[in-house]
Amino acid sequence: MTERTFDLICFDVDGTLIEHPDGLVIWEVLNHRYTGNRQINKERFEMFRSGKISYDEWVKLDVEGWMAAGATREDVYDAVSEFELIEGAYDTVHELKRRGFKLGVISGTLDVMLDRLFPDHPFDDVYTNRLYFDDRGRLDRWRATPFDAKGKPDALRLIADKHDIPLERAAYVGDGANDVPLLGVSGYFVAYEPRSKELEEGADLVIRGGDLRRLLDVFK
Ligand SMILES: [Mg+2]
Repeated sequence: MTERTFDLICFDVDGTLIEHPDGLVIWEVLNHRYTGNRQINKERFEMFRSGKISYDEWVKLDVEGWMAAGATREDVYDAVSEFELIEGAYDTVHELKRRGFKLGVISGTLDVMLDRLFPDHPFDDVYTNRLYFDDRGRLDRWRATPFDAKGKPDALRLIADKHDIPLERAAYVGDGANDVPLLGVSGYFVAYEPRSKELEEGADLVIRGGDLRRLLDVFK
């Protein structure tokens, strides 16, 4: 029997475990739902990228916009229902868990995405943005994750430390520009249907063609 090379596998969410039929992320769907504006996402991303606003301020702008429009839990759940798990994602992560890997999520998505679309997920550690609803089901608070984009490596270190696993035995699976900071940090990087050229070029392995069960041939 060959010895296993990795002990921990962390995943991004949007575009990696969950997808929208039009390739959107939950932020885009909720911004459109509550502001009627699709342009807002590009504008705010650009403000973040150029350093005009912080990540927390970006989250605040979006979530406060939804609150101002009267967002409810029911509404948000309805938006989440536009998404579905990536083909093979369910079987893949449950099988990886069965094989004994520690599993984590490091994502800029919203907690409701996993809670609703993958309630029986086997992840040991989950880091995402969070939404909170009041007694009447109205969106009233949020907590921005410190672990998106440039913060992702910090989360990987935190999870690896917790389980006493060296980073070279930690792998990561992601698709987007916000996963780039993990290149060279995780011991192995899988770019799944990459939407970032830099990720595609820097990854140890690129998976194209949908079914996430291909990971089961990589992580044995
Ligand atoms: Mg992604």
